[in-house]
Amino acid sequence: MPQSNDRLDRVILEARRNADKRAQGYRAQALKLYPWVCGRCARTFTHSNLQLLEVHHKNGNHDDNPPDGSNWELLCTYCHENEHSKLKDSAGRTDTGQTTPVSTFNPFADLKAMIEKKKG
Ligand SMILES: [Zn+2]
Ligand SMILES: [Zn+2]
Repeated sequence: MPQSNDRLDRVILEARRNADKRAQGYRAQALKLYPWVCGRCARTFTHSNLQLLEVHHKNGNHDDNPPDGSNWELLCTYCHENEHSKLKDSAGRTDTGQTTPVSTFNPFADLKAMIEKKKG
């Protein structure tokens, strides 16, 4: 039934969009809350390389985003990758290992938007 598939596609796209919005929200908030330092290797970040700093969810649940930041940890992209390869079997970074062209995780895109906003 192609019609119901169309509908399903729309539902999934909508869900992805919502997840993107949420992700941008918590990333911006985490970056406000915490110093721009990787929690593992202590590398420091500035606006010029901030796209390499990512928000890790300590309990592995990306939907668990308490406003006090208690579930977040800022990690550089390398340590973040490493952290998730250690926890392969648990619910973690869902963006990797998928072949779908639409990624739910694009730190570069949302950083660009943030920079554009700050400029304007
Ligand atoms: Zn690091
Ligand atoms: Zn993570």
